[in-house]
Amino acid sequence: MLHAPSQPVRAIDDGVRRLVDDMVDTMYAAPGIGLAAPQIGVPLRVIVVDLTVGEDRTQLISLVNPEIVSKEGEQRHEEGCLSVPGYGGSPVRPARIVVKGLDLDGQERVFSGSDLLARAFCHEIDHIDGLVFVDRLTPLKRDLMKRKLKKRARSGWDE
Ligand SMILES: [Zn+2]
Repeated sequence: MLHAPSQPVRAIDDGVRRLVDDMVDTMYAAPGIGLAAPQIGVPLRVIVVDLTVGEDRTQLISLVNPEIVSKEGEQRHEEGCLSVPGYGGSPVRPARIVVKGLDLDGQERVFSGSDLLARAFCHEIDHIDGLVFVDRLTPLKRDLMKRKLKKRARSGWDE
């Protein structure tokens, strides 16, 4: 499911608002700085990002149908993913990014971000495009991680 592209949201209704509430709760409980709807089993183009992990709720960004408007530069830092627990990797990301999408009132919002915010936007937008950060690693690192994950899946997740 994490490798299937998600569908655009057609109308921002109570269902979408409840979805965002669930996503925010899941993100804060993890705890994490971002989450995409397919990560909780809903194949819709919705993401949430909060670099403060709930410490400052004014920093919470909920975006419906987000799109990357422009990107420039490159950065590479360790990323983790709530859907790939216990593993990290350092995919190449743009240094700066401009993203647009709709807020929960259906108004278009535009955000520009660099550093961690740029990485978080890219990571979550990848999720709704059916990409996990592991897919952006070098083939060698990806194979190593896949082998580890398979081994762990065979022996159960409790080890
Ligand atoms: Zn992720």
